[in-house]
Amino acid sequence: MVIDELLKIGVTLVEGNEYSNPILESILVLSNLLDVDKTYIYIHGKKEVNKDIEDRFIKIMKKRKTGYPIQYILGEREFMGLNFHVEEGVLIPRPETELMVEYIIDYINKEYPMENINVLDLGIGSGAISLSIGKYCANTMVYGVDIEYKPIYVGNINKDRFNLSNVNFYQGDLFEAIEDLDLKNKIHIIASNPPYIKTKDLESLQKDVRDFEPKTALDGGEDGLDFYRKISHKSKNYLIHGGLLIYEIGYDQGNQVKSILDGEGFTNISILKDLQGHDRVVLGFME
Ligand code: GLN
Repeated sequence: MVIDELLKIGVTLVEGNEYSNPILESILVLSNLLDVDKTYIYIHGKKEVNKDIEDRFIKIMKKRKTGYPIQYILGEREFMGLNFHVEEGVLIPRPETELMVEYIIDYINKEYPMENINVLDLGIGSGAISLSIGKYCANTMVYGVDIEYKPIYVGNINKDRFNLSNVNFYQGDLFEAIEDLDLKNKIHIIASNPPYIKTKDLESLQKDVRDFEPKTALDGGEDGLDFYRKISHKSKNYLIHGGLLIYEIGYDQGNQVKSILDGEGFTNISILKDLQGHDRVVLGFME
């Protein structure tokens, strides 16, 4: 079969699904299998593809049809200009999360241009937040924590990929993971994109997210706010005076998370909106 014919089959297989982009995904999967870039596929439509690649392509596109995320298939996802390795068991980095990371990087450059500071990231996934901060702010030490083993494993693959010695990952339940590190009142910034979906809403998530991304990275408990309460309360033992606590939130959680921070005594609390105009980040400062 030639490239064009195979692409047509790919499109037919995944077409009509809310979560797929049939032509683009067919091209991406095929270029990945052939180990060529996308332009090669555009130019060489009449080129013969061997049977082995053909079979693998069809098998993958059938899997994609079930909703299996394209990023797990390709093993990659771009975030903050960096190409992260991703695989099953870690949340795929979302573009809206760049808002929080951009804020943090600007804040560090402005407040601490010369100092060596400590940043704590709770719930690392693929390491996207920790490693972007580590990459763009060379003077920071980033401590990334996750309760699951897989994110620590994938985070370390990405740490090696970007060659960042100022970022380290620890497995454990939130602050327990860094208990032995003598970081009490020594952290300048605590950042988190915690699980924030209400347990009862997990079932109605888009199929690719619902069936294949890790529930532990999504389930925020009955009202979706469990982690904001836990983290905000314990943060006070770890932040320096004036330290920043910053979260990604669900589009409808702005006021609730703001009042959690208020209740814990944080000041100058603000909500940032994403490119879609939704509340996406809440931040506050410790007294
Ligand atoms: N933004 C993710 C989603 O809607 C949720 C991520 C999270 O819970 N932190 O799938």
